[in-house]
Amino acid sequence: MVIEKFKLSDKVALVTGCSTGLGQGMACGLAEAGADIAGVDYVESSETGKMIETLGRTFLEIKADLGSIKPVTTILSSIIDKFGKLDILINNAGIIRRRDAVEFTEEDWDSVMNINLKTLFFLSQAAAKQFIKQGTGGKIINVASMLSFQGGIRVPSYTASKSGVMGVTRLMANEWAKHNINVNAIAPGYMETNNTAPLRADPARSKEIVGRIPAGRWGTPDDLKGIAVFLASGASDYVNGYTIAVDGGWLAR
Ligand code: NAD
Repeated sequence: MVIEKFKLSDKVALVTGCSTGLGQGMACGLAEAGADIAGVDYVESSETGKMIETLGRTFLEIKADLGSIKPVTTILSSIIDKFGKLDILINNAGIIRRRDAVEFTEEDWDSVMNINLKTLFFLSQAAAKQFIKQGTGGKIINVASMLSFQGGIRVPSYTASKSGVMGVTRLMANEWAKHNINVNAIAPGYMETNNTAPLRADPARSKEIVGRIPAGRWGTPDDLKGIAVFLASGASDYVNGYTIAVDGGWLAR
């Protein structure tokens, strides 16, 4: 039965940026479908840990700063020490810097590109090596953005990084499909998290954004659970290199 294909029982998933927001929502979604979770963040993830344990799943908290690729090897080895394997990676951790393009600094550029694109690639590479070693295949889900498709305003490095995420998602999918590794991306629309707090705090900007969303509301972390489970499961075994918008219709306008 097809519903069986969506189950993630006995799977181990690594979710980055899991302490809050979309990462917390997706980690809980995978746990609801049966997966154990290794969560990486540079701040405490105890709230997420409690939510996952309440669902009867195991949570391994890994404290690491993904602003550089230094912790990649240790992250993988702590997961293998605890669970003996890895099946799913969600590259969710990401940051944004808002400043006019003429004022944008090198630090604004590098800090965003490092976590949003460089670490995403090298963590995917480490996961793919592990999947190939295991001979089990695997699932990699990257978090893209509306700015993988559009230019945006006052967010040069964010647009560059998220456009890059859509590109490397295709590249990794092409190279690793032969190992039964599916690499896809989710492009969330405008979601209620810390990332968009400044936009939501500006009544004029918030009204303008919601007015353009056909669904007529901001998205929530719960809105990503279904797509995350689909892309992490056997139900998506023939979906390769695609970036799926979950945006209440924003891109369809
Ligand atoms: P958020 O700020 O609420 O969460 C980001 C998470 O990443 C947090 O848990 C944070 O602690 C973690 N993180 C940040 N820097 C880190 C670092 N150096 N090392 C380790 N962890 C780090 O934001 P969110 O909205 O939940 O964003 C999650 C992802 O979704 C990001 O990639 C973001 O770009 C993307 N996204 C968000 C929206 C939106 O509307 N909120 C839209 C499109 C894409």
